[in-house]
Amino acid sequence: MSTLASPATADAAPADSGFRAAVRDHTGDLIALRRAVHRRPEIGLQLPQTQAAVLAALDGLPLEITTGRSLSSVVAVLRGGLPGPVVLLRGDMDALPVTELTGLEYASEVAGVMHACGHDLHVAMLVGAARLLSGVRDRLPGSVIFMFQPGEEGPGGAEPMIAEGLLAAAGEHPVAAYCIHVLSAIEPFGRFSTRRGPMLAAADTLKVTVRGAGGHGSAPQFAKDPIPAACEMVTALQTFVTRSIDIFDPAVITVGSFHAGTAENVIPAQAEFAATLRSFSPATRERVRRGVLDVVHGIAAAHGLTADADYVPGYPVTMNDGGEAEFAASTAAELFGADRFAWMANPEAGAEDMSYVLERVPGAFVNLGACPPGLDPMTAPLNHAAQARYDDAVVPDGAVLLAELAWRRLSR
Ligand SMILES: [Zn+2]
Ligand SMILES: [Zn+2]
Repeated sequence: MSTLASPATADAAPADSGFRAAVRDHTGDLIALRRAVHRRPEIGLQLPQTQAAVLAALDGLPLEITTGRSLSSVVAVLRGGLPGPVVLLRGDMDALPVTELTGLEYASEVAGVMHACGHDLHVAMLVGAARLLSGVRDRLPGSVIFMFQPGEEGPGGAEPMIAEGLLAAAGEHPVAAYCIHVLSAIEPFGRFSTRRGPMLAAADTLKVTVRGAGGHGSAPQFAKDPIPAACEMVTALQTFVTRSIDIFDPAVITVGSFHAGTAENVIPAQAEFAATLRSFSPATRERVRRGVLDVVHGIAAAHGLTADADYVPGYPVTMNDGGEAEFAASTAAELFGADRFAWMANPEAGAEDMSYVLERVPGAFVNLGACPPGLDPMTAPLNHAAQARYDDAVVPDGAVLLAELAWRRLSR
């Protein structure tokens, strides 16, 4: 059967899953779970309370559950009653070091920590998907891996989960992987969006120390001043972007930190700066890596200085598979109506460690607008803002889409 050409009604879904009706029995629980997690946000790789909340919410379902060794992840496997392949669904669970200023009744009770990126909704949606798919277990042709991931906001939980055997959890390598990320702004409430190919940027870091020789500000000829050379590097990095990078496969370099010196009449021995490097393809990422090092070392050498340039790789490009993005788009439109889906014109310049999964498994990263009705998505506070609000009325639809993607992909 073709999932791409199906008529735009939920009833026409292959072997109707019934998830849209079934989710009503879980909606109250899922929203309560989201709010409980929201009240007790945790940061990084160790999220013991969040992990406990997930385990409690999955209790009683026919799942094989393992928890992480080096991080508080949860991997749950649902084995369907019929033979078939493996699909992975992912939800990240971590919060941010932000002091919440939403004024919500269920606002964070932990000082300086907030679910400002909406990962609390992701937890609830993935639990919902696990419940929905467990309900059709006997008819399910294959297995589903539910990936509850810590540390997305740093230092990265997907890579250690993969190292601990995530992708082998169901015995076979997954044929597809999907996740949903909520947005507090930009997209209207309830609208899904995605794109083919690059979805989010690669985000790497450049750290530079320019080393010269200190001296008296009145007599630079007796010193080796690192400051003008470091300034030249900052501007040359921008020239590198505009002269060496294809505008249709772009990069962004921002020097966000620059430090040197102690007094106006003292030439310091060194200057330091750091930059974030964003790119949207492996080819441009590699070109940027080589280019920034050449610029820094070349300018240092031209002035008789040395430079320690440290390129620190961050998350790679989050790359959607074209076919899986089409499949996610058509599934969302069929389930919820054509007005509930929009193709994204451009990728986001943020980064995501779902990228490590999508480097190994074809799949799709899908956004879901959760801007509270009544706010203008174009002016509402963005993800990570202390005022960012996410309407959890989207949780059941997110759970249904995740479950439906697994159901249809396994049924294909
Ligand atoms: Zn975030
Ligand atoms: Zn996020």
